[in-house]
Amino acid sequence: MSFESLGLAPALLRALADQGYATPTPIQAAAIPIVLEGGDLLAAAQTGTGKTAAFALPLLQHLSNAGATQTRRPRALVLTPTRELAAQVHDNLRDYGKHMRISSTTIFGGVSMGPQMQALRRGVDVVIATPGRLIDHMQQRSIDLSGVEVLVLDEADRMLDMGFLPALKRILAAVPRQRQTLLFSATFAPPIKALAMQFMHQPREVSVTPANSVATTVTHHVHPVDAAKKRDLLLHVLSQDSRRQTLVFSRTKHGADKLVKSLEMAGLRAAAIHGNKSQNARTRALSDFKTNRITVLVATDIAARGIDIDQLPIVINFDLPMVAEDYVHRIGRTGRAGADGMAVSLVSHEEAGLLRDIRKLLKQDIAISDVPGFEPSHPLRTDAAAPKPVQGQRQARPPQRQGKPSSSHRPHGHGYGQSQGGDRPVEGNRNRQRSRRPAAKA
Ligand code: AMP
Repeated sequence: MSFESLGLAPALLRALADQGYATPTPIQAAAIPIVLEGGDLLAAAQTGTGKTAAFALPLLQHLSNAGATQTRRPRALVLTPTRELAAQVHDNLRDYGKHMRISSTTIFGGVSMGPQMQALRRGVDVVIATPGRLIDHMQQRSIDLSGVEVLVLDEADRMLDMGFLPALKRILAAVPRQRQTLLFSATFAPPIKALAMQFMHQPREVSVTPANSVATTVTHHVHPVDAAKKRDLLLHVLSQDSRRQTLVFSRTKHGADKLVKSLEMAGLRAAAIHGNKSQNARTRALSDFKTNRITVLVATDIAARGIDIDQLPIVINFDLPMVAEDYVHRIGRTGRAGADGMAVSLVSHEEAGLLRDIRKLLKQDIAISDVPGFEPSHPLRTDAAAPKPVQGQRQARPPQRQGKPSSSHRPHGHGYGQSQGGDRPVEGNRNRQRSRRPAAKA
């Protein structure tokens, strides 16, 4: 299988050769012919599969076939959940389209609207946007979506997770009915199917990885540890080989910042990447990590989603994610393309229920081993009696002031953990209290 045999134009073949890509990846081989034919496509593919080129190459070909921009209106719209992914898709489009005359621009929050408006006023062929900022432009009438011929929803599952469904519906209502729609998602979960049923026209389906699979070259390790000792254990694990580029996941933005401070105090070069950081800070942290200026990047799930970092030998979960599927996304950063990878999770006994969910989803063994000097004071139970995950659960943190739950630490309050039945233990306690009360009165 070659890119030539997929029917791609010479200008794209040259750009691919410049990139050093010799053969299409499975998602590219499956998707490109369908997209070139002009049909709708529903594709299950995760980051790292080459999914961006799977839509970017035929998209560029379509735009170049139909001639250069005649109008100022964008002819293709790519929606992504995060700014980082938008910037990355933009970079890829520029790389693949460098021998063509196709203009593109990004539209995302965290930077001022002015330059985006100017670019739109000058006219562009492709807009790569995050839904929130795109809606802002729609409201200000600085974008006209009536000329969109191709709509791409990249990482659609994550856009839904982030609560973008209402925004997506508004955007879908503003683009022409007659269009080509390409939807990429890590899984074909029911909400994705529902979205496709509603907004796509007889989509062809392709799926390159079985849903929720992780590379078989990844080994999974769990180190049980008391929540209060996690930071020391992380330093210990990192000190085993401090030259290695390590991505560390934190469940909260605040936790990520605190971790970076302790890592820096221990002499490590680290930076955090999360939704409260300015766009510039996020871009800088990512490029510093890629160029080895920092060795530890601490990320929250949402910020890390879709970031293209190749071949990391090790990913560390400082906290387990509230949603088991996010473990798969996190671990997708290691063991790519046949290289060996390691996923290390520091798990306190409060997180046993989360670990059990992850094991169920992975259907793969996870080695659980104590680290000498960090043995937990409570055993880590992963059987059915393990504590259920509690929404908003925090470790080693004093109770919230006035007992109010903190929403600021939860990414966008978009319902993380809600599907986990997370507040059951709390309910259980409440019921017990309630049932005790009458007895006390009596
Ligand atoms: P993606 O899944 O789109 O994030 O792509 C993952 C990585 O694979 C990116 O670094 C791409 O530049 C790279 N890539 C995409 N297509 C190919 C290909 N056919 N051969 C080699 N690398 C590729």
